[in-house]
Amino acid sequence: MLPIEVQRAATLKPKPSSEGLGFGKYFTDHMFRMDYSPERGWHQARILPHGPLGLDPGAAVLHYAQAVFDGSKIFRGKDGQLRAFRIDDHCKRLAASADRLAMAVVPPEVAREAIEALVKLEADWVPNAPGTSLYVRPVVIASEAFLGVRPADKYIFFVILSPVGSYFAGGAETVRIWVEQEHTRAAPGGLGGAKAAANYAAGLKASVEAKKRGYAQVLWLDALEHQYIEEVGTMNLFVRIGDEIITPPLDGTFLPGITRESVLTLLRDWGMKVSERKLAISELREAHKKGELREVFGTGTAAVISPVGGLGFQDGELRIGDGKVGEVSQRLYETVTGIQNGTLPDRHGWMSLI
Ligand code: PMP
Repeated sequence: MLPIEVQRAATLKPKPSSEGLGFGKYFTDHMFRMDYSPERGWHQARILPHGPLGLDPGAAVLHYAQAVFDGSKIFRGKDGQLRAFRIDDHCKRLAASADRLAMAVVPPEVAREAIEALVKLEADWVPNAPGTSLYVRPVVIASEAFLGVRPADKYIFFVILSPVGSYFAGGAETVRIWVEQEHTRAAPGGLGGAKAAANYAAGLKASVEAKKRGYAQVLWLDALEHQYIEEVGTMNLFVRIGDEIITPPLDGTFLPGITRESVLTLLRDWGMKVSERKLAISELREAHKKGELREVFGTGTAAVISPVGGLGFQDGELRIGDGKVGEVSQRLYETVTGIQNGTLPDRHGWMSLI
């Protein structure tokens, strides 16, 4: 067991009401922090009031973007119990992301202990209205003050928590997505498969342009041919053509989503025809022309299942399923959220009690 020193906040913040939570606007009273140096390894695990980190302006993260993070959720079940969704997988992905950026790796079991200890202390912050949860954001950054270009030798691992609302309230909300054919996000061999802060910086300009056109997020295509579907801003993408449900295969250029993997497992459990294969925009447009494009939906921790009602192109928009929520999206949404809030059986052992 990791010895964690706890320094409690002198005053506690008022908790926001569950209606206006939005995403990532509020932070809890405390955060977790641990430091790394070559001599001491990871040391000084502590929980302290949520506040500034005290970084040197020479810190490598500010210059060469050695920063990785992850994002998962804690749910308050109908029974009042707190449950984490696939927390070990999220901690393993954080380790893999850090390794890709040549950073000090937080052992997944240490990250899990840190998250659990912090969540226990902040249990009152886990909201209980339908669709709400406590979002967990673990981050690793390079803190060594040094301007040479090489991996830093000092790091900070911290965890912050944010009570969040739902993106998709189970109603008829679909999102419109812009198919980005000019900018790209990640090239083969690059950082796309890691949850690196730099990937998000790479995508911001295109997402601002898409918003101006009235689209919620961007669908990224492959960097070489600008033809094959990769992922959406903060979601993996699934497309249902006829009876086949297609999602691109993991090739290192986009994030291996944990919701993606869960959805693949559920679809296979249900005996549906699922393919992890490349899908070209031309095939998608052809299917639409023939009336075979039945559903498109995104999957991700924040959005859960997000049905797509329209795909925007320079020459107009493809409407999908009359802009209504498709049957597979609806069933997946109900199943995933039911497992998360403890009302449906957890057959795959995804939930862990906190
Ligand atoms: N792609 C990107 C770029 C993301 O930021 C996310 C959200 N983490 C996802 C996909 C979905 O991953 P997950 O299901 O693990 O949240």
